[in-house]
Amino acid sequence: MHTLEQAQAPNPGESLAEYVRRLRLGLGINQKELAAKAGVHLQSIGKMERGKTTTLNHKTKNGLACALGVPAEYFDAVCRGIAVEATAALKFCPDCWVPGTAPDPLWMHLRAKYCFACAAELRSHCSKCNEPIISLKHRFCPYCGRSYKSKQLTNTDS
Ligand SMILES: [Zn+2]
Ligand SMILES: [Zn+2]
Repeated sequence: MHTLEQAQAPNPGESLAEYVRRLRLGLGINQKELAAKAGVHLQSIGKMERGKTTTLNHKTKNGLACALGVPAEYFDAVCRGIAVEATAALKFCPDCWVPGTAPDPLWMHLRAKYCFACAAELRSHCSKCNEPIISLKHRFCPYCGRSYKSKQLTNTDS
């Protein structure tokens, strides 16, 4: 069974062109309407759907995400050719990750276990209550309030 959000996630191997078109048709709007909704030039939408665009700037990405009703991260995933399934299991280095920023895609790789930069063990669960980490937009575990960033936060005086 698919939730609405999963159905709107990019399919494995789906290109940006296919993805944008699929979402747009799903909403039943034309390119012009999408351009207006997203605050993006009609030409840019046309280019995107013809597969001439493979990267999106911040503004375009957020405009599209808003207009199409999907998280902006989905466009990152589709631009980088990473399946959302792979990124769904959030993993990050508790030492290198800067709270409030997107985790490095290298950490999110399905088989990654250790940080590419410092070799610390990657974390995908809360160190206190073991709930899976669902969003790194949060700095703290929503279940128990433990900081995601460091396991030593409560052990040091600094
Ligand atoms: Zn690290
Ligand atoms: Zn927790």
